[in-house]
Amino acid sequence: MSLGEFELIERFFERPVQRAALGVGDDCALLRLQPGMQLATSSDLLVEGRHFLSTVAPERLGHKALAVNLSDLAACGAQPLGFTLSLSLPQSDAAWLAGFARGLLALADAHACELVGGDTTRGPLVINITVFGEVPPGQALLRSGARPGDDCWVSGRLGDARLALEAFRGSLTLPGAQFEQARQAMELPTPRVALGLALRGVASSAIDLSDGLVGDLGHILRRSGVGATLRVDTLPRSELLQAQPLPVQRECTLAGGDDYELLFTAPAARRAEVEAAGARAGVPVTRVGSIEAEPGLRLLDGAGQRLDLQVAAFDHFRNG
Ligand code: ADP
Ligand code: MG
Repeated sequence: MSLGEFELIERFFERPVQRAALGVGDDCALLRLQPGMQLATSSDLLVEGRHFLSTVAPERLGHKALAVNLSDLAACGAQPLGFTLSLSLPQSDAAWLAGFARGLLALADAHACELVGGDTTRGPLVINITVFGEVPPGQALLRSGARPGDDCWVSGRLGDARLALEAFRGSLTLPGAQFEQARQAMELPTPRVALGLALRGVASSAIDLSDGLVGDLGHILRRSGVGATLRVDTLPRSELLQAQPLPVQRECTLAGGDDYELLFTAPAARRAEVEAAGARAGVPVTRVGSIEAEPGLRLLDGAGQRLDLQVAAFDHFRNG
């Protein structure tokens, strides 16, 4: 069934707001901030064929579109408040929209993050979400705070989303149940909002892992003016990924992308507090390296030997 623009908005995206002063339906939405808080905002654009496969279930796409934005708030240690949704749709397909809205709004409700507005147009399938959150002044986790002597940590497990992507591309084969597990990691990432909040005042810097660990850690190193050593074989991996050859494991954990885990640094004196923050948030946290004054990123294998992984990282899937 096909719906008009305003019917579509009203039916799927207009809901009563509780936290915001005004939601969907007027020219602007009005958010309520607690006195003295800073507004944290971030925006992500998802384009069919570039950021997601056209085969993805609409419910999962709705989940992921919001999850990647909440992940940015998490990386800043911000509390989610609300979001806007701008959609370009090839057609107004009610069944597709119902699924998309279900996945989107279930995650929104889980984080008490309200849909307060947006824009809707016909065009190629493109989804833009802008999230809003709040954080006390001076407490946002930034990319620029890493210092020599800090530990480097990651949350959760890395690499399964990349494994799924390689399976979709046909460069490796996974049996049914394993493929489904990897695919879930790719299509249903969990934004680490509670962990970001628990790390305020503990972590010295943070970023969420969207483009692959090496690239994203590079952002912290550049912004902070430091270098790092990573112990590659200590990177947390699922049993599924551990069953793959070591070069695949390294490729997926180091260059994977789409993990939406937090990568963060904290002074070595605060290890117990980091562990406690992970426990409070219900997310495993793993110490994977250290920050050093010497610029650049050094990768070590399990025996402490230097790895030149530019080669291993890229050649496997190109040639293999
Ligand atoms: P305007 O012409 O002022 O841009 P629109 O007619 O585009 O407003 O939208 C009407 C109302 O519906 C606005 O409050 C807008 O924020 C909201 N809206 C439009 N598209 C969406 C969407 N995809 N999700 C949520 N709210 C939306
Ligand atoms: Mg509009």
